[in-house]
Amino acid sequence: MPARKRVLSGMRPTGRLHLGHLVGALENWIKLQDQYQCFFFVADWHALTTDYADTSQITDNTCQMVTDWLAAGLDPEKATFFVQSRVPEHAELSLLFSMITPLGWLERVPSYKEQREQIRDKDLGTHGFLGYPVLQAADILIYKAHFVPVGEDQVAHVELTREIARRFNSFYKASRGRRVFPEPEALLTPTPKLPGLDGRKMSKSYGNVLELADEPETIREKVSAMLTDPQRVRRTDPGRPEICPVFGYHRRYSTEAVIKQVDRDCRTAAIGCVDCKALMVEHLLPVLEPIRERRRQYEARPESVANILAEGSRKARGVARRTMNQVREAMQMVFDWEKRKRLRAKAERTP
Ligand code: SF4
Repeated sequence: MPARKRVLSGMRPTGRLHLGHLVGALENWIKLQDQYQCFFFVADWHALTTDYADTSQITDNTCQMVTDWLAAGLDPEKATFFVQSRVPEHAELSLLFSMITPLGWLERVPSYKEQREQIRDKDLGTHGFLGYPVLQAADILIYKAHFVPVGEDQVAHVELTREIARRFNSFYKASRGRRVFPEPEALLTPTPKLPGLDGRKMSKSYGNVLELADEPETIREKVSAMLTDPQRVRRTDPGRPEICPVFGYHRRYSTEAVIKQVDRDCRTAAIGCVDCKALMVEHLLPVLEPIRERRRQYEARPESVANILAEGSRKARGVARRTMNQVREAMQMVFDWEKRKRLRAKAERTP
């Protein structure tokens, strides 16, 4: 059976995850782990590109986040989970790539300008922030990943990785003139979005999230305060489900019959928002219960999460080391003289 193609994806360590992460990324990762050889990593060095001043939460946030990965259904028997900084070869490859990456390529990455404009409370005029796409290229190429699952807005980053791979391959060759790096492809995945409790994008910084670890009572409380159609001031006012965040959740979690019923009854004011929210929560809770149950099991044995990351990091490092050996050979930066002699002799024998 041919080896499965390789997929790489990562997340910055943000602590406990919310429903937006489940819908927008984890559900896709769970599918991918059955189809590909998946490497999923905690991008702790990437976190430093914006949050360099306070590193006190990185370790705890890593444990909480990976616990949620596992609770959501990611399986260490199927995929490899590791921490970026536990595989220092990423930094070496990133440094080498930074030597060949023209500045202009980095300055034209769309998210560079956008984020510098949006994030005003931090000084992002740093080398690390400008260079993070180079680190990202190293993250991907060091595993020779075939695919990187991304949404439309991330395609430019994968394209930059392909350009860096091409440039490296044009300067340096592996033995017999072969290229060192394959060019990875963007695995375009739909990124469905659930609105936050206030109708904006679900984000911790807006304080509008439902966490995967929230207890049913907390979910009920948060949902009871959820924004609805502002036109429904009184119980008798008809509503517009298409603009109501609660209806977005019905669409995702309720049955077809319930969705139709809510759509009809909201427009005629036959149902009030309190009842509508309660109905939605009854469909949402069964989805979250198995996740909370698995989380409880991992929390009872915190060392199990650490062990999964240690084992995954060891495995990832084995792959990364092999790639770095090829990179150093291609760049003729091998300081083991015996090996160097062998490589030279081999190169001379090769027509
Ligand atoms: S009845 Fe339901 S869908 Fe209609 S506005 Fe209220 S919460 Fe939203």
